[in-house]
Amino acid sequence: MAEIQLKHVTKIYEGGSAAVRDFNLEIHEREFVIFVGPSGCGKSTTLRMIAGLEEITEGELYVDGEYMNDVESCDRDMAMVFQNYALYPHMTVFDNIAYSMKLKKVPKGERRQKVLETAKILGIEDLLERKPNELSGGQKQRVAMGRAIVRRPKAFLMDEPLSNLDAKLRNQMRTEIRSLYKRLNTTFIYVTHDQVEAMTLGTKIVVMKDGVIQQVDTPGQLYHYP
Ligand code: ADP
Ligand code: ADP
Repeated sequence: MAEIQLKHVTKIYEGGSAAVRDFNLEIHEREFVIFVGPSGCGKSTTLRMIAGLEEITEGELYVDGEYMNDVESCDRDMAMVFQNYALYPHMTVFDNIAYSMKLKKVPKGERRQKVLETAKILGIEDLLERKPNELSGGQKQRVAMGRAIVRRPKAFLMDEPLSNLDAKLRNQMRTEIRSLYKRLNTTFIYVTHDQVEAMTLGTKIVVMKDGVIQQVDTPGQLYHYP
């Protein structure tokens, strides 16, 4: 059974035309799925519908076979990293990473252990007492990823996570994301307009244009297209 399934999913924003049209896709456990395509083609909208951040206008979304259209029933064991990081500015790095566990009333000792473990994976152990405004772009990115993976979600969603970084850092973070994928037993869904990112990271690439899927392939297959 597919872990995440979209059937004939359409999204029409109020007063707009369809941002996503008749979208059909199965995402299996441990896949690294990339939505790639030009700006405005509906990548982000699709990701946000999967995350439960956006209502679905038509069609169906299933997570582990369970009907998930209702945005309110949003406990879907997914975590998302945004392009602008969306860190809590008044909290330290430690508290940013610990926050979701605090909401879920995870005991303090366990919270602390998980934050330290996560910080180690991302190489940010020395930054735990800092506030977001004392971090570089790459550091903020790592903290945002730490905040997302600390709960070990079943799916890890990223929306253009590297587009605010300079080229050198982008390459480095791309490598880090790949090793993170190898290390975590998690499904990744990743939005980018960057072909290189798509080809080097994805195991399944969904090429979108004007709100519809043009092609779904492995990087190898895509590469051999004329
Ligand atoms: P992408 O992520 O590929 O850049 P988006 O999913 O952000 O594309 O946008 C798809 C289309 O939906 C675009 O035409 C965009 O202008 C429109 N759109 C996105 N968000 C909204 C919104 N909140 N309200 C109205 N239209 C939106
Ligand atoms: P509270 O608001 O109840 O103090 P917090 O979630 O804010 O709970 O803090 C969690 C615990 O982790 C606190 O005891 C805090 O002192 C501790 N802590 C904060 N930063 C660090 C750090 N860098 N390394 C280890 N422990 C920390």
